[in-house]
Amino acid sequence: MKKRIAITLTAMMMMSLAACGTKDASSDSKFKAGTYEGTANGFGGEIKATVTLSGDKIDKIEVTGDKETQGIGSVAVEKLPAKMVETQTVKVDGVSGASVSSAAVITAVTSALETAGVDVSKLEAIEAEKKEAQKETLDVDTVIVGAGGAGMTAALEAKAAGQNVIIIEKAAYAGGNTSRATGGMNAAETKTQKELGVNDTIEQFVEDTMAGGYNKNNIKLVTKMCEESSAAIDWLEEIGAPLSDLSFSGGATNKRIHRPEDGSGVGAFLVKAYTKNIEEQKIPVYYDTEATKILTNDKGAAVGIEAHSEDTNYTINAKSVILATGGFGANEELYTKYRPELKGYVTTNVSTITGDGITMATDIGANTVDMEQIQIHPTVEQKTSLLITESVRGDGAILVNKSGVRFGDELRTRDVVSAAIIEQEESYAYLVFDQQLRDELSAVEKYIDNHIVEQADSIEELATKLGLDSKTLANTVSTWNKAVKSKNDAEFGRDTGMEHDISVGPFYAIKIAPGVHHTMGGVEINVNAEVISTDGKAIPGLFAAGEVCGGIHGGNRIGGTAVTDIVVFGRIAGTSAAQYNATVK
Ligand code: ADP
Repeated sequence: MKKRIAITLTAMMMMSLAACGTKDASSDSKFKAGTYEGTANGFGGEIKATVTLSGDKIDKIEVTGDKETQGIGSVAVEKLPAKMVETQTVKVDGVSGASVSSAAVITAVTSALETAGVDVSKLEAIEAEKKEAQKETLDVDTVIVGAGGAGMTAALEAKAAGQNVIIIEKAAYAGGNTSRATGGMNAAETKTQKELGVNDTIEQFVEDTMAGGYNKNNIKLVTKMCEESSAAIDWLEEIGAPLSDLSFSGGATNKRIHRPEDGSGVGAFLVKAYTKNIEEQKIPVYYDTEATKILTNDKGAAVGIEAHSEDTNYTINAKSVILATGGFGANEELYTKYRPELKGYVTTNVSTITGDGITMATDIGANTVDMEQIQIHPTVEQKTSLLITESVRGDGAILVNKSGVRFGDELRTRDVVSAAIIEQEESYAYLVFDQQLRDELSAVEKYIDNHIVEQADSIEELATKLGLDSKTLANTVSTWNKAVKSKNDAEFGRDTGMEHDISVGPFYAIKIAPGVHHTMGGVEINVNAEVISTDGKAIPGLFAAGEVCGGIHGGNRIGGTAVTDIVVFGRIAGTSAAQYNATVK
C-alpha cells in the first residue's frame, strides 16, 4: 500500500525553515511571491503548469494538458497538482499507468518553481503517521475485478440481467490495456461487411484465428468467439460505440477489422462509451482498490473477494465473481519466468497489468493454459513505449531497415514481423508513410504530438534526416509504389494494405522495435466463461473474461482479436454469472 503523505502545520513551518528557494531580497520569506509558468511534453502534447507562490507556501498549482489520454493521463493532470500543494513538494507518486503524463506534470511544475528560483530538491515533505485501515463489508450479487474492456462489458451485461454489481479497479481510472488498443475489432458476417460487399464467413474467421495461433488455440473458444462476433458489434452499436469503418489487418483473409468511423483508436473510443454506460447504469466502481484474494465456501465455490484501498480493507461477499484483471505483460518477473529471453524488453502494457487474476484464481485451484505464449508487438516506439497501430501498415506504410530497404511483407503475423525486425542490423526499423495515410488515420496525430515522427518534404530529405542513404530509400519507395500500382509485390508477396502508394508529401517515418504486448496464456475457461480447475471441473461462482484467460489466441494473437475476445467473453461472463446467481440460495 502506498504511504499516505500529509502535512501538518508544524511540518510546514519546519519546511519553511529548512527548504531553500531564492528568498525575496526584501524579506525573510521562503519564496518570491508571484505566479510562475512551466511547460513539458506529455503523452499527448504540451503540459502547462501555473504555480502561485506566497512568501512561504505553494498556494496553488494549475495544470492544463488537454491532449493527455482521457481517463489515464488526464487523471495525472487532475490529481497530481493537488497532491503537490498538499505535500508542498514535487516529489509525489505518479498515477500508475500514466507515467509519461505524470512525469510531464512534475517536470512542468518543477520548471515553474525553478523560474521562481526555487531549488525543488530541497523541498521535503514530512510523512504523517500511518492511520489504521478501516474495515468495510459489502454484499452484492456479482463482483467484477478489473474495469478494463472485459470487466465493463461483463458488468453491463450482468446489470442488464437484473444483478446488483460492483467493479473493483486497482488503477485510478478505468480502461486498462483496452484503452491502449489502437487497431480495431475483428468480426465476421457483420452488417458493415455485408453493406460493403465483403464476403466473409465465420468459418474463415475461425480458420484465420487458428492459423494465426499455430492451431494451439482452443477451437471451441475460438468458434464461440467468431460466432458471437457480429452480435457483439451490434451490441457495441446499441451502447453507443459503433465500429462502422472496415479495414485489413495482419493475418486476416478478408477486410474484417472494424474501427471507429472517425479513425480514432478503438480502445479509447470504447472505454469512453463503456464508462458513460457504467455511469448511466449507476454501477459503482471502486478505484484505487486492489483485489487480493477470492473467497470460497466449504464447497469450493467462489463467494466474494478481499480487496483494499489506501485506507480501507474490504470484504466483498457475492454470489459470483468475475475476473477481468487483464494479462501479465507489465510483470517482468512473471513473464520472464516463462520466457527468460524477454528480459529488458519495453512493454506496451499499463503498469497495473500484473497477472493478479491469474494468481488469485490459481490460489483456489484454477488451471492455467499457454502461459509461455507471450506476444511481442513489432512496432513499438522505444522511448515512449507507444505502440504504433497495425493500421499504419494496414493503410499502406512500409517497414525499412537501417540500410533503407524493405525486408518482408509488413502484414504477416506479429511474431513473424517482430522476428524479422530483430534479425535486422541493430534490431530496429522505420515505418515509412505519406500524407495520404496521415489524412486517413487520426492515430498518426497522436504520434506527431508525441514528437516521435520524423517529417520531410521529400523521401530523399526524410532519408537524410533518418541517417539513411537517400538514393536507396528513394529506390525502395519507388519499387513499392510500382508494386502498389500493379498490385504485385514481386519482392515479398504482400497483397494487402496496398490501396495507396507513398507519393504525396510530406513524408513521415517512425523508428520502432518490438515490445512485450499481449500474454496469450492465462486461466482456463469454457465457452460459458466458467473458470476450470486443475481437475477439469468448472469452479462454481467463478467466471473470467479477457486477457486474464488463456486458450483463445493460442501461440499468437491476430491484431484486432483482443477486442473481439473482451466484448464476446465479457458479455458471456456477465450473462453466465447472472444465470448462476439465480441458482444460489
Ligand atoms: P481486459 O479488458 O482484457 O480484461 P484490461 O487490461 O483492459 O484487460 O483491463 C484489466 C483491468 O484490471 C485494468 O484496468 C487493471 O488495472 C485491472 N486490475 C488488474 N489487477 C487488478 C486487481 N488486483 N484488482 C483490481 N483491478 C485490477
